[in-house]
Formats: sequence, C-alpha cells, structure tokens
Amino acid sequence: MTQDTLAQIHCPVCCTSSSHNLAVQPQDYEYDVDIAAQFSLCSCTSCGSEFVWPRPTLAQLQHMYPENYYAYDQEMGHFWQTLYDRRCRAEAKRLLKLTSRRPIRLFDVGAGDCRHFRAIGSIGGFEFSGVEMNKDMARAACDAGFDISDGTFEEYNPTERAGTVDILTMNHLIEHVIDPQAMLKKALTLLADGGVFYGRTPKLGSLGNRLFGRYWGGYHFPRHLHLFTKQSLDALLHDSGFRDVEIVEDLNLFPALSLQNLLLGKLGLPLTIDGGHTRLWTLLVAITAPLSIFDFLVRRGDCMIFIARK
Ligand SMILES: [Zn+2]
Repeated sequence: MTQDTLAQIHCPVCCTSSSHNLAVQPQDYEYDVDIAAQFSLCSCTSCGSEFVWPRPTLAQLQHMYPENYYAYDQEMGHFWQTLYDRRCRAEAKRLLKLTSRRPIRLFDVGAGDCRHFRAIGSIGGFEFSGVEMNKDMARAACDAGFDISDGTFEEYNPTERAGTVDILTMNHLIEHVIDPQAMLKKALTLLADGGVFYGRTPKLGSLGNRLFGRYWGGYHFPRHLHLFTKQSLDALLHDSGFRDVEIVEDLNLFPALSLQNLLLGKLGLPLTIDGGHTRLWTLLVAITAPLSIFDFLVRRGDCMIFIARK
C-alpha cells in the first residue's frame, strides 16, 4: 500500500486517520476467495480497532461470501444441531430477562435460514422479524412464515418499523458491515424506547488473538471488516447514543478455527476444506475446548457479548 493511500485511511470505528498497515497480514484460509488479495488489514493507533482497507463496495462484499459459506449451509448434523438448539434455548432465557414486554418483538440482522428463530421460539414469548442478504434464504424464511426482508441491513429502510423493536440482535454481524456507525444509528431508529441492542463480535486482545496472530480465527479475513477491542466497542456504542452498555465474555469456538488456520496456513497441511471447515473440525473443537473454557474463565476469550439500551 502506498503512502498516498495510507494518508487517506480512516478508522471506521472512531473516524481518526492515525492508522498503520499490520506488518503481518492474515489470509482467507477458510474460503480462499480471489477478492481477498485486494484488501489488507490496518490497525488504528487511536482506538485500537483493526479494519480492512480499502473499504469494500456492496458488490465486492457479496463476492466475499461464496455459495458454500457456512451460515448458508442447511445441514448441521444431529450432534451439532442438538448443541445449537440447546444454546438457542439458553439464549432465549437470557433475552426474556432483558425486557418485561410480551411478546418480545425481536428483529435479527443477518437472520440466515431462521433456524435460531425455531429454537428460540420453542420457549415462547417472541415475535420474530429481520433482514437477510442471501435472497434464497430470505425467500425460504418468508415461505416458512417469518417476516424477513431480502437485502443487506445497509439497504433496509427502517421507516415502517421505526421505534417498534424490543430487542434487535446482531450476532456475529456488526464486524461484517461496511459502516458500523451508520448501522448503529439504524439500530437505534428501529428500537423502541428502552429497547435492547444485543449481539456478539470477536474481541481483539484476547489470548487467542495474541497466541495465533495472523492465524487467529477472529480475523475471518476479509469478511470481518473491522474488529473491536472491548474498549473501542464500548466507546462506539456510547458515542452512537446507547446507554447502560454492558460487555461480557462469550464462550466460543474460535480457538478451533485458529488451530485450523494454523494447520492450513503455517504447516500447509493438504486438508480439503468445505463450508469453511476441514473434516477434522469436530476433533479440533475437542482439542481446543479446554483453551476455550480457560479463556472464558479468565475473561480473555475471543468473543464478547454486548448489551446496550436505547
Ligand atoms: Zn479507531
């Protein structure tokens, strides 16, 4: 990257222009999309966030997500589906505690195939809606009876639903949008007074981030367009107008992804990868489970949950 280009760089999280290109760049170990070569990762010396530069256009963004992207995969297998359903039901109980309103009008950004709505809905007390950029999945979700708008959250017009959402969720999504500040403003518009903004995102400065470096699973390069530290996310939420911001640890599988990236990228093991995972995936999860649990217990995990109110 030339000095001229570097001079124009500004951090999408705090908007300052004091950034530098990371000396060692991550790669797309999971999907190896061609378009990844057009981007690099910068670090903001002001807020500590890291971000992809140049910022992709919407058209470029769509090229970052191949047809076999894991969130589009319909089949999970019995074991993973059971774990997923249990996790969703635990999540439903957490969400029910965040507001006394019933039914809770929950709007999800990046609703995927709505499988989480089915699992959360089994607890009862929710009314679901959302937005999904994959047209086929959005159509299937509508056919299944869910109120899902087709397109990106960037394209979504919030006028009709403004001020009506009790809980707006962005699970592993805020790091994927081109302009996080604009997205938070739109989230604020959609939320009812006292409504809750809830989601998950990778956390820079975790033990995994330091241990695995460029192979860290949280990079998910180039699809994670910016990565927050706990402090930079807290500042962005406050600056965007949210109050009662709380950021807590989330138990996650990123160590397994980091180890997979290391095996592929550093050791060059000739493992076939499909849908972002090799056939060793379950084994890698088992091997790294103690690390996931340790990171969680010492509050240095790879992922954080944010909760903030309008
Ligand atoms: Zn910054």
